Formats: sequence, structure tokens, C-alpha cells
Amino acid sequence: MISDIVRYLVIKALSNKFNDIRLLKEYFVDGLSPSDLSARYCISKDSVRGFILRMYEYAGDKRYLPKLFEIIYPYLEKIKPVVHVVCMCKLCGEIMDCNVIGHHIRHYHRDVVEEYVDSILKIIKKKINEAKGMGGSQ
Ligand SMILES: [Zn+2]
Repeated sequence: MISDIVRYLVIKALSNKFNDIRLLKEYFVDGLSPSDLSARYCISKDSVRGFILRMYEYAGDKRYLPKLFEIIYPYLEKIKPVVHVVCMCKLCGEIMDCNVIGHHIRHYHRDVVEEYVDSILKIIKKKINEAKGMGGSQ
């Protein structure tokens, strides 16, 4: 579902892991290959494939992913991370292992996540309606 993807990406942005979002955008929108991305972001090809696979799992129908990323990327860019590089949450002051940041935000700051998710879903809905208004199916 779109909301699962948006939620996943909002949590990434809040977790100060914007590179993961940029990587996915460069895959789906700009057409970079997993090996390009692996080199560019210094992470293993398996990790890149893992990110992409997760998007496919969330999406169900993967054909809309490029368009979705194109629409939401500028909004994700505006999200201010709530954690510092040392992995301290700005919302509650807790310092934690970087691996659990996403989990922390998802469980302790659900309200912040849902606020971003809702506002982005509204934008998507609006864009879809605009597209429908522009003249039918292809
Ligand atoms: Zn917190």
C-alpha cells in the first residue's frame, strides 16, 4: 500500500537516513542500477537490493513506484530529522543505538510519523485526482 511506503520513507527521513531515500529515488526515478548505487553510497549490493525489494513488497503493483517517488521526493526532502548523528532523539532526548532509531520513532513518536504520512497522502490523492481530471485512462 502507498501508505506503507510513505510511512517507511517518513521514518527514514525522521531517522536522519535520507541517503536511503535518495538511493531509492535514484533507482526508481533516475534509473541507476544497484551496482551504481552500491558504489555511490558505499553499501553492499545486497543492501541496495534489500531496500528495493522492500518497496516491491509494500507496493504490490510496482508500476506506480517511479511516479510515486517523483511526487513525494520533494516533500520527503523537507522533513527535518529528529535525531542527531550521535543518534539522540530530539523529540525525547533518548540516546540509542543507531540500528533501533527507526523502531524508536515508529513506536514512541507515532503521532509525528502519522502527521507526515497523512499530509503526504493528501498530496498524493490530490495529484491522482488532478491526473484523472486531465483526461481518462491510457
Ligand atoms: Zn524519541
